[in-house]
Amino acid sequence: MFLENRVALVTGGSRGIGRAIALALAAQGARVAVNYLSAGPAAEDVVRQVTQAGGEAMTCRADVADGAGVEAMVAAVLERYGQLDILVNNAGVTRDGLLLRMGEDDWDQVLDTNLKGVYNCTRAAARHMLRRRCGRIINITSVVALTGNAGQANYCAAKAGVIGFTRAMARELASRGITVNAVAPGLIATDMTAGLSEAVLESVVGRVPLGRPGSPGEVAAVVAFLASDAAGYVTGQVLPVDGGMSLG
Ligand code: NAP
Repeated sequence: MFLENRVALVTGGSRGIGRAIALALAAQGARVAVNYLSAGPAAEDVVRQVTQAGGEAMTCRADVADGAGVEAMVAAVLERYGQLDILVNNAGVTRDGLLLRMGEDDWDQVLDTNLKGVYNCTRAAARHMLRRRCGRIINITSVVALTGNAGQANYCAAKAGVIGFTRAMARELASRGITVNAVAPGLIATDMTAGLSEAVLESVVGRVPLGRPGSPGEVAAVVAFLASDAAGYVTGQVLPVDGGMSLG
C-alpha cells in the first residue's frame, strides 16, 4: 500500500469517477474524505465500503462552488484527521446546449462548479499544504478541453480553464513541495454519460482508438499514481485517460 498515513479529500466522491478514486486511494491505505453535494446515501455507501475493507473514511457535504462552505469542509477534514496530503478536484456537472440556446444560468452553473470549485478547494487545501511543505493536487479536466465539443462551450471553457489553473498552480506551489497535475478522461461510463443516446455513444466510441468507453477505475488508477511518491517529479502535466481519443 503506497498511500499509508496519507489523507485525501475527493470532491464529488459519491458517484462515478470520484467514487472510484476514493476507493482506489483508500485501497492504497489513505484515509479519505468523500465530498458530495446531494447524494448523501451514495457517499455513505463509499465510506461503508472503505471501512468494511479495513480502511478509514468520512463524508463531507459541501457545494464546491461555495467558498465559505469549502473552507468549513477542509476545516472539518483537518479536525478529524489532522492533515491533508492529497486533494482531488473531481466534482463536475454538464449543462449542454448549442450556444444560442445556452442560457446564462447554464454557463454560470458549469463555470461555478467545474472551475470556481477547483479554485475554492485548492485555495483552502493549499493554505494547509504550504505550511507542511508537501502535497498532491490532482484536477479532473476532460479530453474536450483539448479538442472542443459542439454543444459544450461552457464545459469546454471550464475544463480548459482547469488546465490553465493546473499549470499556474504547478509553478506557484512547486517550491513548497506541492505537485499539481490534471487528468483528462475521455468517454467514461458514469451517470454523466448514461443519458447519451445510442447514436451519440456509437459516434463517440468510433473516435476512440481503443474502441470502447473507459471505466471509472481506469481513471482512478492514474490518479492514484499521481498521488503516489512514484510521481514525485511530475508536475504541471495533463494526462489523457481516453483510449487514445485525443490523438486526433
Ligand atoms: P457524475 O457521475 O455525474 O458524478 C458527479 C459528482 O460530482 C457527484 O459525486 C456529485 O455529487 C458531484 N458534484 C456535482 N456538483 C457538485 C458540487 N457543486 N459540489 C460538490 N459535488 C458536486 O460525474 P462523473 O462522470 O463521475 O465525472 C466526474 C468528473 O470527471 C467531472 O469533473 C467530469 O466533468 C469529469 N469527466 C467525466 C467524463 C465522463 O465521460 N464521465 C469525461 C471527462 C471528464 P452528488 O452525488 O452529491 O450529486
